Amino acid sequence: MNAASSFPLLPEVAEFLSGAPIASVIGGRDALARDGTSFDTFDPGSARHLAQVSALGGADIDDAVSAAAAAFPTWSALAASERAVHLHRLADALEARKPILAQIEALDAGKLVRAAEQDVQVCIDTLRYFTDMALHATRRTTLAVSGYDAWTTREPWGPCGFIFPWNFPILLIGWGVPPALAAGNTVVIKPAEDTPLSAIYLARLAREIGFPDGVINVVTGHGQTAGAALAAHPRLKRFSFTGSPEVGRLVGAACGANLTPCKLELGGKGAAVVFDDVDIDATAERLAIAITTHAGQVCCDATRWLVHERIHDRFADACAKRLAKVRVGYQMDEASQMGPVVNARQRARVLGYLARGQAEGARALLAGGPADVPGFDGFYVKPALLAGDPANVASREEIFGPVAFLTTFRDEAHAVELANATDYGLANSVWSADLQRATRVAEAMVAGNSWINAHNVFPHGVPYGGINSSGMGGGVNSPETLFDYWRSQSMVRPRAI
Ligand code: NAD
Repeated sequence: MNAASSFPLLPEVAEFLSGAPIASVIGGRDALARDGTSFDTFDPGSARHLAQVSALGGADIDDAVSAAAAAFPTWSALAASERAVHLHRLADALEARKPILAQIEALDAGKLVRAAEQDVQVCIDTLRYFTDMALHATRRTTLAVSGYDAWTTREPWGPCGFIFPWNFPILLIGWGVPPALAAGNTVVIKPAEDTPLSAIYLARLAREIGFPDGVINVVTGHGQTAGAALAAHPRLKRFSFTGSPEVGRLVGAACGANLTPCKLELGGKGAAVVFDDVDIDATAERLAIAITTHAGQVCCDATRWLVHERIHDRFADACAKRLAKVRVGYQMDEASQMGPVVNARQRARVLGYLARGQAEGARALLAGGPADVPGFDGFYVKPALLAGDPANVASREEIFGPVAFLTTFRDEAHAVELANATDYGLANSVWSADLQRATRVAEAMVAGNSWINAHNVFPHGVPYGGINSSGMGGGVNSPETLFDYWRSQSMVRPRAI
C-alpha cells in the first residue's frame, strides 16, 4: 500500500508532471532529445514514479550553448537597469508561484515541504540581492598612472555553463545563476537527473513572463552524457559545477582542456568543535537539527562532532536522546521532522558507512539503520551517532546522510588539529561561551567557512565556498560572486601633451 495519494497535488503541479516526457527549455522553446530518449524521476518518499524527463545528448547540448551564445549580444548590451526589470519580474513570478514550485521541489528531492518553501525563498531573495547589487556596481575605473590615460572596464564573459547536484536544486540555482545573469551573461543549466523538475519549471516561468529567449536554458539528462558534453563545450566562457569531488575533478579537467575558467563547489566533512563551557542540551539540540536537516544530505554539515573529553559522556547522551526523538516521515506530511534520502543508492550508501564504521571499531551510540514509515515505500533511514577513532572510515569520508561521528579532544590545540585532519575544507563550527577562544579556533580551522555557536548559516554578503577537496574558484553568495561574472579589461593611451 502507498499512502502518498492522500497528499493531493496542486492542479498546476499535476499538469506539469503530466508531460511525457517533460521537455528541456532551449532558446525559449521546449526541447526533446533528438534521439527521443528520456529518463524517469521518482518521489523519494514513496518510491512512486513522478515524471518522465527528456535525456538530452551532445548535439542537444550544442543547441543550448548556441542559443545562449545567440542571446548574449542583446542581453549583455542592456543597461543593468533594463536587465533588472526582467530579473525582478522573474523574482516576483517565483514568489507568486512559490507553493507550486515548493511542492515540485519537495516531491522531486524528498525535501520536507516547508524546507522546500524556504529554499524557493532563498532563490528569490538571492535573485533580488544580485540584481540590485549589479545596479550599483562600478564597472569603469580610472587608473592613476604617470604619462598615460588608463582605465579598466568590467565586461560579461558570454554564455556560462552550470551543473548542479540533487540535494538543493532550486536553492543552488539561486546562489549560482543570478550573479551571472545580473552581470549580463547568458546561461545553460544542467540539473541533476534525480531532481531536474524545479529547474525546468523556472525556465518555463521565465519564458511565460517574457524573459528574452536563450538567456536561461535548462538541459536535462545524464551526467556522463549531457553533463560531460556541457562541461567540455568549447564555446562556454565560464563554468560552475556543484557536486562531488570525483565529478568535480572530471569537470575541472574538461574545462582546463578548453582553458574555460571554472569554479567548483564540492563535498565536505565538516567539524563541530564543542568546548566544555557550552550549554550541553542547547548545543546538542542545534547539532541534532543540523545533522537531520534534509536527512544529512548537506555538503557543509557538521558531521564530525569533536567534543571536549570532560563533557563527552553527558553530551553524547544528550545528542543520542535528541536524535532518537526525530520523527522520520513522508516529506509532504507537516508532522515529519526528517524526510527520506534521495534514492535507494543513497540509502545503501548511508547504511554501508554505518556497517563499515562499526566493522572498523566505531561504537554505535545510536544505531540508526533503515526506518519504516508505514504506508510509504520510500528511502528512509534513522539518525545515527557513532563514536571512536577519527581515522575511522565513517569519520573520514563524506556519508551524506543523518550520521554524526563523535570524537573527544583534550585541549584547544588538539581540537584544531583534529578539525584540520581532513582532505576537505568546506565549513566547520566552534561552540563555546568564551568568544575569544571561539574566535581563535574559528580562524585556525582551515576551510572556506567557520561558524561560531551556529552551523549552516548563510547571510547574503558572506562568501561561501570550499578549499582543497571541497572546491576552488571563488564560492557564492557574496559581492565577489557578482564580480566573478565580469572579466576585467584595461585600456591605456599615451597622455596627449
Ligand atoms: P555528483 O557529482 O554525482 O553529480 C552532480 C552533477 O554532476 C549532476 O548533475 C550529475 O548529473 C553531474 N555529472 C555526473 N557525472 C558527470 C560527468 N562525468 N560530467 C559532468 N557532469 C556529471 O554529485 P551529487 O551526488 O549529485 O551531489 C552530492 C555531492 O554534491 C556531495 O559531495 C555534496 O557535498 C556536493 N555538494 C556541494 C555543495 C557546495 O556548495 N559545496 C552543495 C551541494 C552539494
